[in-house]
Parts: sequence; C-alpha cells; structure tokens
Amino acid sequence: MSDSRSALFKSFSKEGIVRREALLEALKERGILEDDPRMKALFKAINGGSPEISEAQFQILSDQAPGLLEQALTDGLAIPDFSTFAKELTDIFDEVNTIRMGKLPTYIPQLERVDPEKFAMSVCTVDGQRFSTGDCDDYFCVQSCSKPMTYCLALEEQGEDVVHSYVGREPSGKTFNELTLNTKGLPHNPMINAGAIMCGALIKKGGDASDRFDYVMEKWKTAAGGQKIGFNNAVYLSERQTADRNFALGYFMREKKAFPPDVELLDVLEFYFQCCSIETTTKSMAIIASTLANGGICPLTGVQVFSPGHVKNCLSLMLSCGMYDFSGEFAFTVGIPAKSGVSGAIMLAIPNVGGIAVWSPLLDELGNSVRGVEFCKRLVSRFKFHTFDSMLGLGDDRIDPRRKR
Ligand code: GLU
Repeated sequence: MSDSRSALFKSFSKEGIVRREALLEALKERGILEDDPRMKALFKAINGGSPEISEAQFQILSDQAPGLLEQALTDGLAIPDFSTFAKELTDIFDEVNTIRMGKLPTYIPQLERVDPEKFAMSVCTVDGQRFSTGDCDDYFCVQSCSKPMTYCLALEEQGEDVVHSYVGREPSGKTFNELTLNTKGLPHNPMINAGAIMCGALIKKGGDASDRFDYVMEKWKTAAGGQKIGFNNAVYLSERQTADRNFALGYFMREKKAFPPDVELLDVLEFYFQCCSIETTTKSMAIIASTLANGGICPLTGVQVFSPGHVKNCLSLMLSCGMYDFSGEFAFTVGIPAKSGVSGAIMLAIPNVGGIAVWSPLLDELGNSVRGVEFCKRLVSRFKFHTFDSMLGLGDDRIDPRRKR
C-alpha cells in the first residue's frame, strides 16, 4: 500500500481495522453520497465486503475510486469541513422556515394548487459534495429556472453572435412578461419570457417538436448527473390555456420581425411552455447549478455539458437579470448568479464553489420566493459567497468554507 494510503488507513482505523459503517459515515459527512456515479464501484465493494476492513482490503477499496476517496477522507474537496457547512446551512434553513409570508401565483391555475408549506434546500459543490434538507425529494416545475438552460442550449447551437443578434443582454427594468422590446425591437435578455421564447426558437430550429423536447430533456438529465428529470403535463396544459400574455409576446415579436426566418410561432410557444413545465427536485436542480458553477462540467460525471464561455455568458445574465425586478438589489446584497421561477424555486450558481437550489412556493410581490430570497440573504451574511467577496482586504468575520477551519 502507498504510504499516503497507509497513513490514511491508520488515521481512520481502530485496532488495525476500519468499520464499514464508520467509512460510509465518514464519506457521507464529507458530502459523498451512495448514489454518486463516480463511486459506484467503491460503494458496491464496501457494501459487498467485510464489515471490518483490513489495511489490505482498504487498498483494494481505494483502487475502486483512486484519488477521490483519498481526497475526500483527507478533507481535500471544495468544502473541507463539509459536515459543519451542512449544519450551518440547516441552521439558516430552520430560521427561514418560520417565515409565513407570500402568496401562491394565481395566473397559472396548477401552480395555485401546490402546498404552500413546502420548503427544500440542496447543495452540490464543484467536487460533487452534496447535502439536502426539507422536502428535497418533492418534484416541482422549474418555470423560469428553465431559462438559463434554454439560453445555454441556444448558445451551444448557434454561438454568442447569432444568439445576441436576436436577443439583448440588458435588464429590462420591467416585469418578466412585460409587453416590451428593446430599441432594436428585440427581447431585452434571455432571462425574461420574451427572451426565453426567442432562445427556444434558436434550438433545433426547423426540427421535429418531439425530437427537440427529447433533446432538451436529455441535456437537463446530463447536467443533473443522470438524476431523473420529470415533466408535469397538467402544468403544461395549464400554462397553454392561460398564456395570453406569452402569445401576445410571441405575436408582438413576430409583428416586429424579431424572429429568425421560417419560425413556426405556435411551435416556439409550445416549446417554451414545455420547458417551463419540466420538473426537478432541489437535489437535481442543485447539481445542474453546480454544473454551471463548474464551467459547464457536471461534477458527478465529468461530462462537459456546456462550454465555459457560454456558461460565463449565462452566469453574467443570471447575475444581472435573473431575479425579475429584484435583480439589481439581489446582485448588490447577495451577489451570486441566480435564477428564480414562479413555482418558488431559486437556483444559485456560486462560481468554483457549487450550486444551491431552494424551493418554497410562497412568492413576494415581485414573483420571487419569500423564503428563497431570505435564505440567500442569510447565506451571504454568513459565508463569503458574494461575487466580490473574493477581493483581498475584506477582513470581516464571515466564514469562507473553502478554507480548512
Ligand atoms: N411559465 C411562466 C410564464 O411564462 C414562467 C414565469 C416565471 O417563472 O418567471 O409566465
């Protein structure tokens, strides 16, 4: 056995053995969970092996996940003291859970039927460390949290110059579904309804509608490290039946000749409603957010889902336009690229740290989740996650969980 592995074994062993349960617990405390695709062979070997692991057996186990096992057990991952970090996130979650303000959205009937008490939070670091709490296995529709993915897919297919010849990159300063275009007669940005409808028109243009949706669902699943991604047909039908504003946006853009040639407007609108009706849990949404935080590479699989340049564009627009009319205030006080949705989800991508997903259906007057926004504010009041916290000299007493404590 290598000296480092031997030293590692000795640091965890008692009387020359490591108990299986102790090893599994040590990995869980560090955020390495048993459904981690990178550790499939390791967990199979651990669970299929002896409950008391000798040094020689530890060597064999280490070969199942070379590097990652040692990195995890020596606290060399993105958040070294992950168990303390998870407890601190839980403390913030529990504090925010006492908030009872906000209202369910009424303009999409299906969204009005969600349990307002639901509350979930998940985190996934760029090294695939994961923790969740609350209703984290509940599925909810992503709504406008689909917009960053739609934008990235349009960029991957058409490139930045073509995409931004059809959609701007300025905050609109108006509500997310305002009947307004910029001075060039284009949607202000991809994070509002008009911009997302436009980006959808640039994905698999002219292709078969079912193939296009299969393609997008597959991309969502890849970005989520293979986790199940759902679709809520009732929400889709509800969206379509109550989408006068989105139809008006679509016809307005067609009247202004904003769309590329040969676009079938009704197909484009249907595709937009479908994307809003995709369903995830906070667990899978946090992995998707970590893929964005990790330059487009999914931390759980190593798959390059989006190119880093396109992810940079997406994070820039999430930071400036992701939170409706609260975007400026959110960028100032929280300072993390984020996208919210009227289902009550907020997706945060902390560059080079990881992704966080929060879901609580009760919304404020701007359409953001009340508990979600409060969670984000308290997150940055405790941790140095604000984009500009990286500046030297900010010697306040907040925690940088990337450092060993
Ligand atoms: N499907 C919703 C709409 O088009 C999305 C709004 C949102 O989540 O911001 O209005």
